[in-house]
Amino acid sequence: MDTATISQAQQLEQANHFQMYKRFPITFVRGEGSTLYDSEGKAYLDALAGIAVNSLGHSHPRLVKAIQDQAAQLIHVSNLYYTEPQGKLAQKLTEVSGMDRVFFCNSGAEANEGAIKLARKIGHAKGRKGHIVSMGHSFHGRTVATIALGQEKYQKGFSPMPGETRQAIMNDFGSVEALVDDDTVAIILEPVQGEGGIHPATKEFLEQVRALCDQKGMMLIFDEVQCGVGRIGTWYAWQHYGVQPDILTSAKALGGGFPIGAVLAKQEVAEQLQPGDHGTTYGGNPLACAASLAVLETIEAEGLLVASETKGAYLRNGLQSLQQKYPEQILEIRGEGLMVGAQMSFPCRELVGRMLKHGLLVSATADTVVRMVPPLVITTEEIDRLIQIFEIALKEELSQNG
Ligand code: PLP
Repeated sequence: MDTATISQAQQLEQANHFQMYKRFPITFVRGEGSTLYDSEGKAYLDALAGIAVNSLGHSHPRLVKAIQDQAAQLIHVSNLYYTEPQGKLAQKLTEVSGMDRVFFCNSGAEANEGAIKLARKIGHAKGRKGHIVSMGHSFHGRTVATIALGQEKYQKGFSPMPGETRQAIMNDFGSVEALVDDDTVAIILEPVQGEGGIHPATKEFLEQVRALCDQKGMMLIFDEVQCGVGRIGTWYAWQHYGVQPDILTSAKALGGGFPIGAVLAKQEVAEQLQPGDHGTTYGGNPLACAASLAVLETIEAEGLLVASETKGAYLRNGLQSLQQKYPEQILEIRGEGLMVGAQMSFPCRELVGRMLKHGLLVSATADTVVRMVPPLVITTEEIDRLIQIFEIALKEELSQNG
């Protein structure tokens, strides 16, 4: 693609697509490992991984081969029949996640919708209305039921919400207890909040919430759409904390870039949904399952859980050194594994734009947080470059904006 075609790609989007995203004016055409190339051939270090999706990096040969082989054999048949990839993935995913059963769908929001239905069905059988308590600053998707659980800003213009919104404060157990009543069926939370600005839960908080759910007969739902599949050094965040949910949702990195989502649950929970209660046309089709199976097998074969832990520590160390140099601008470095946020003292979209100009992809989230969720295959040399570019862009911002 030459320069003329770049602007054509942008023009076509602007003329025809819903104008829904604040996109940066770059057209990507190719990727390899942690590197992306735009239509002018410029290389970028990708420390965003499609927002915590491309955990194997771009064009990983095992993932490419799995998709190519499966596409040539069977892409889709519906859930009226059995397929080999779905069975194999179900077995592998329940094994690594420590959950008993899985239901496949297509995205994070859809996985959470499934979790909500499951929790409500169980709660209704106990005579409860079906309230669900979520956390402030949480993000569970953009469907109507999932925005009802998330931040108010995403609900504006889309009322009425299905069910009332009850939001507690993450890591403040008293605020959770205060919102639970006889009609509450579940508590949903992200063990490490992503869109809300990279806020990890404490172990103590999760233990207290688990105990409350046991005591009151409520479902504990972990939304691991962003923090799962190795991102924080264990297959799922619950294994890092040692606190197991009743229901767990997964998506994003699960397909390494191929869309797939999953609702995972303990046996006694999963069996409360009967045939016909829930379903999806595409969910768990052979192509998506073959891709996902390749992702899980590659994470195992290449030791990427350990890599996430060690590279994450390396990244946070580097950022903490930067913080010591710029304490007024970088207020805090948060995160677990390779899910890292730099809390800035100012809105950081412009800073993120500067980093992009210098060849680095990260994102601004919660207005003032620079989010870094690179591929798990990122190297220490690439992390060094990330830190260098962060500093160059920050210096530039300071010299131009004071
Ligand atoms: N849950 C969490 C924690 C997320 O971070 C996201 C997306 O950012 C979602 C759910 C929604 O996932 P999707 O965009 O695949 O619907």
